[in-house]
Amino acid sequence: MLLDELHPESKAWSTSPRQISIALTNVCDLHCGYCYAPKRKASLRTEQVLSWLKELDAEGCIGIGFGGGEPTLHPDFVNICKRAAGETELAVTFTTHGHRLTPQLVERLKGSIHFARISVDGVGRTYEEQRGKQFSSLLQGIESIANLSPFGINVVVNERTVAELDAISDLAQMGGASELLLLPQQATSAVESIDETVGQALRDWVSNYRGKVRLAVSEAGASELPTCDPFPEERGLRAYAHIDASGVLRASSYSPAGAKIGDAGVLSALERLRNASEIK
Ligand code: SF4
Repeated sequence: MLLDELHPESKAWSTSPRQISIALTNVCDLHCGYCYAPKRKASLRTEQVLSWLKELDAEGCIGIGFGGGEPTLHPDFVNICKRAAGETELAVTFTTHGHRLTPQLVERLKGSIHFARISVDGVGRTYEEQRGKQFSSLLQGIESIANLSPFGINVVVNERTVAELDAISDLAQMGGASELLLLPQQATSAVESIDETVGQALRDWVSNYRGKVRLAVSEAGASELPTCDPFPEERGLRAYAHIDASGVLRASSYSPAGAKIGDAGVLSALERLRNASEIK
């Protein structure tokens, strides 16, 4: 789509961010070192999530992405997805580690998911050392997700995985993925952000990439990478926000600043967050 010839007045712009990610739960059965999910136990209630989704839908949000923790471990995950798809116009997506995608779960989710993402941090032994799970189990997860909906592969790019981007993009193509999302590693309490050597290797890989699966990159890791921005005036909280598993709205899952979503809803919290932060 070419949108740059349309310039609606700013008062006509949607008040909601275009995309919202929602951590349904902090619970996860894996222990990746670069995990950014808070470790305190918290999960969102179904009715709470649905009321936010309806508000966001009415205010012009286009899509929501469920994550966590591991969203499939939320006890009401299937019902939340079904209701999100059935009771709103939002595009419904989720991100998973892929090890719980049984044929039964895939069957129950079918028809409620517009796009899914599976995390593939390296191949073979690299994957197993980073995620502590068998690579063969991940391959089954990729087969399952391909059977559910269009899907993309997410890769945390760090000093281990950067050397395996060719193998991961081959896997993405063979598995039928339509997107390879690069997530340059961000600092957590356990790991550092990528250094200049890894950053340069990533930039070189991207500029030489000739694969068929389209590339995407997280905004936090996009600097110095060639990106195509379809909405150049849509920045910060106009584009994206994150709701954590405690019901706090943030500019991203890494952002320390947040506004608790109260009875007045998501847009009210968004306004408070805008007023309190540099990010508008
Ligand atoms: S699978 Fe995802 S949520 Fe779970 S520990 Fe790893 S990075 Fe964190």
